[in-house]
Amino acid sequence: MSTLLANNAQSLSEFRNEPYADFSRPEVRAEALKAAELVRSRFGDESELLIGGKHFRTESRLRSLNPSRPSEVVGTHQRASPEQAAAAVEAAWEYFPTWAAIPASERIGMLRRAAVILRRRKMEMDAWQVFEAGKTWPEAEADVSEAIDFCEYYALQMERFAGPQPVSQLPGEQARLVYLPLGVGVVVPPWNFPLAILAGMTTAALVAGNTVVLKPSSDTPTIAARFVEVLLEAGFPDRSFCFVTGSGSAVGDVLVSHPKTRFIAFTGSMEVGLHINELAARPQKGQIWIKRVIAEMGGKDAIIVDDEADLDAAVDGVLVSAFGYQGQKCSACSRAIVSEKVYEPFLKKLTSRVAGLKVGAADDFANYMGPVINDGARKSILRYIEAGKQEGQLVAGGAAASGEGYFIQPTVIAGVDSKATIFQEEIFGPVLAVTRAADFDDALRLANDTRFGLTGAVYTRNPEKIAKTRDQFFVGNLYINRKCTGAMVGAHPFGGFNMSGTDSKAGGPDYLLQFLQAKSIAEKTH
Ligand code: NAP
Ligand code: MG
Repeated sequence: MSTLLANNAQSLSEFRNEPYADFSRPEVRAEALKAAELVRSRFGDESELLIGGKHFRTESRLRSLNPSRPSEVVGTHQRASPEQAAAAVEAAWEYFPTWAAIPASERIGMLRRAAVILRRRKMEMDAWQVFEAGKTWPEAEADVSEAIDFCEYYALQMERFAGPQPVSQLPGEQARLVYLPLGVGVVVPPWNFPLAILAGMTTAALVAGNTVVLKPSSDTPTIAARFVEVLLEAGFPDRSFCFVTGSGSAVGDVLVSHPKTRFIAFTGSMEVGLHINELAARPQKGQIWIKRVIAEMGGKDAIIVDDEADLDAAVDGVLVSAFGYQGQKCSACSRAIVSEKVYEPFLKKLTSRVAGLKVGAADDFANYMGPVINDGARKSILRYIEAGKQEGQLVAGGAAASGEGYFIQPTVIAGVDSKATIFQEEIFGPVLAVTRAADFDDALRLANDTRFGLTGAVYTRNPEKIAKTRDQFFVGNLYINRKCTGAMVGAHPFGGFNMSGTDSKAGGPDYLLQFLQAKSIAEKTH
């Protein structure tokens, strides 16, 4: 057992996060422009469904648009029918015994090759995100790097779960614990980390020996189609996973409720997550298991700015957390809770920094913020801004920004009460509510006054307050004197409390257990 622990420690120390390219360097920009050109030359290309190793086209098409210039069609995709969705689960079920019987070492090898291919195509993958998800180049680079990290990290972790497990031995028998895959997993990712989250959930399921039906977000199916190419090139058999595009409302329920579906790995909104959880709980005719649901959902993440904080650092942290990728991260700071004593100077510094943020097309290196994902999102965010204007004082932004794309000004609303909708509901856009706290205890109380519990940060130099935060700030990912976004695989296992989800801790040492079941075997030896 000591060898086993030593091996684990050694494996984990082998893991290094993928470094980021620096887009302020001219040679990196030149490379990015080349990738952008390549990607543009494939704009509008049609992708097909992949079911049971066969490709399919359908009557009706799904077009994915560039949110910076919605007149540009980035990719053309199929709209699967409910029958095709059911056929995908059946096909994945049929191949499951074959896939599960392949030695873990081979699946691990495939996953490592996927990381190598992603690294080779990194700038191109960045470009697809810039054009399909509206990420700026550095945001896209972080996403693709995280996808590579997930591949490498889950490959390492699977070595651990495929090896001998530390059970104690009784006299006269030999005890073993082995991990088996579950069956067919339905994987449903969101658009906001269109490669990282998709790749993380899909590869965790596959490397553990499950077959997968992947249903990408309708906003980012082209990035998903590129990842399908990567998986196939890496050697994953074309029957080990199915690729089913189409709207969640049309095919989601069929996939989730199918009696052969064994588990669902979902990341997205609370509403859809709760719906999936409820549907999955209902046993269907012929179903012989309880479905497992891994559901990572929304956030209403707060940063506490204490009167003993480094105020400039706090302003930096809030700015980046609230407006990076237009506030469209589950980890984004949407509430700044600021001690009375520093409230005015904080707000002044913050608003002057917000005024300097440039909004525009995501592919233009000059812009800090790109568009929000689609027209529906823009309308919904603008409605929240209107509500916010009633609930507090608008101190920055407050409207759409000019241009063809779905642009919104970075918006700050101050003096927001904890009962306000913009304090309680996830907006998922560049809107920050600032709330005054009487003292540190009040700040903690306000931060915890939410049904969500995903990320949170606190800025203070006081060690006692830091200790209190560790104990009392109820979030899955807590950050002290740093921003609340940008969790790193391996270092910051990610997942939230309460209505933020099932706390799956993606990129953490226990994540793969959710895709496995353990079998205990005891054999009498004499
Ligand atoms: P969403 O609207 O809930 O959609 C997520 C996925 O669910 C999409 O692929 C969607 O497909 C699919 N879907 C919709 N209805 C479905 C149904 N009835 N059955 C099965 N699948 C269905 O979320 P989103 O707008 O893509 O993403 C933003 C949300 O994700 C935010 O709430 C954010 O906080 C959350 N998020 C959480 C985390 C985390 O780790 N906790 C990370 C990232 C994002 P269609 O696109 O075809 O509708
Ligand atoms: Mg959506």
